[in-house]
Amino acid sequence: MWWDSKVEEIRDEARSFAESIVAPIVNRMDVTSEMDSHLLEEMKRAGYMSMLCPKEYGGRGLSTLEYAVVVEELSRICGSTGITIAAANSLGVYPVYLFGSQAQRDLVLPGVGEHGNLISFGLTEPGAGSDASGTKTTAVESNGNWLLNGSKCFITNPRFSTWFIATAVTDPDAGARGISSFLVHKDTDGFSVGKAETKMGLHASDTSMLHFEDVTLDTDAILGPRGDGFKQFMMTLDGGRISIGAMALGLAQGSLDVALRYAKDTLGIEGKIHGRQAIQFPLSDMATQIEAARHLVYHAAYLKDQKQPFAKQSAMAKLYASEVGHFCSDSAIQIMGLDGYRTGSHVERHLRDVRLCEIGEGTSEVHRIVISRYLLKELEALDKATRDAKPETEKVTA
Ligand SMILES: Cc1cc2nc3c(=O)[nH]c(=O)nc-3n(C[C@H](O)[C@H](O)[C@H](O)COP(=O)(O)OP(=O)(O)OC[C@H]3O[C@@H](n4cnc5c(N)ncnc54)[C@H](O)[C@@H]3O)c2cc1C
Repeated sequence: MWWDSKVEEIRDEARSFAESIVAPIVNRMDVTSEMDSHLLEEMKRAGYMSMLCPKEYGGRGLSTLEYAVVVEELSRICGSTGITIAAANSLGVYPVYLFGSQAQRDLVLPGVGEHGNLISFGLTEPGAGSDASGTKTTAVESNGNWLLNGSKCFITNPRFSTWFIATAVTDPDAGARGISSFLVHKDTDGFSVGKAETKMGLHASDTSMLHFEDVTLDTDAILGPRGDGFKQFMMTLDGGRISIGAMALGLAQGSLDVALRYAKDTLGIEGKIHGRQAIQFPLSDMATQIEAARHLVYHAAYLKDQKQPFAKQSAMAKLYASEVGHFCSDSAIQIMGLDGYRTGSHVERHLRDVRLCEIGEGTSEVHRIVISRYLLKELEALDKATRDAKPETEKVTA
């Protein structure tokens, strides 16, 4: 339904990029906790930072499905590389394109494709993760400008970014309608990128704090209408979930690839039909679950490309693929024993890296809540349709 020769071509290009440019340096980057500068430049040159940016703005203009396949392929080798391009596209380019005015698009988007000027997305704060209503950053109107104050934590890509989307409370008494989004340039007075977070995995991905101290912005720095921030980041995260699903899928596939090779070459299970079931069964479970996760992720991407509702499917894809990624990387370590547990085995890094997928852009628990809401809404709609279809006489007696 969704696969064609263009997707295949893009998959092959990304696979070759990952294997020739990323694979040789992946363990070094994990140890030094630094994204290789040459790799970063190569990703920009390949147009991987602007995949979701339309061609008219200098981007690659890929479909969501093609983009997801690239995130999957890079994550198969390196989760840090995967999250770097995923955040640049779905949390950076996508909301600017979707919610930005013509002037904001013209100002920000061409630089992504031409110069790799990344955009970071600043929503999370200490005390405001799953529940964004805890946002403490404020934007106050003052003398025809906006004055921003506050901090953001665990933000992906700030050290590589030129532009920042930041959410802030503009109307404290308006609840969800009281949050707005702003576009901030890195050189704006009072803005700074804070300390880099130390973390369990994704070592080569930049994750840092942002600080706003009396940052003065023009009135036109607001992204979309005042009070639309909440709605905007919900829509942004709907798309972002496809990216995290694709990332988890890549890490799951990467784990299976390593474990399968080990089972064949080192454990010698090839050709044996008994006696190695402890190894064969988890390999089969991994492959089956990966196939199911791939269908969920691609289907959500396909629906988005067809401009059909996709939020329930992207939540399911993200939830399931993340848990499959965790299962596969953990199973791969078990299959390989100490050779999997050993630092540098790839699969131990995949396990550390994939753990983010069950937390970032909505935890698994929050996704279960989101999905159940869709189920209840669908049931309500069905009940209403059944009631409406009943003849008037039955409605009265019912
Ligand atoms: C590597 C990394 C990169 C990130 N990049 C970005 C970024 O670029 N931009 C950005 O804005 N943010 C980013 N984040 C933040 C990320 O989106 C948050 O971690 C996520 O929203 C969850 O928030 P939290 O970690 O504060 O967890 P919390 O919200 O504190 O949750 C803690 C626990 O409580 C549970 N919980 C919370 N609410 C409920 C509920 N209503 N019902 C049931 N259980 C609940 C959660 O499921 C979880 O188990 C990043 C995080 C990481 C780790």
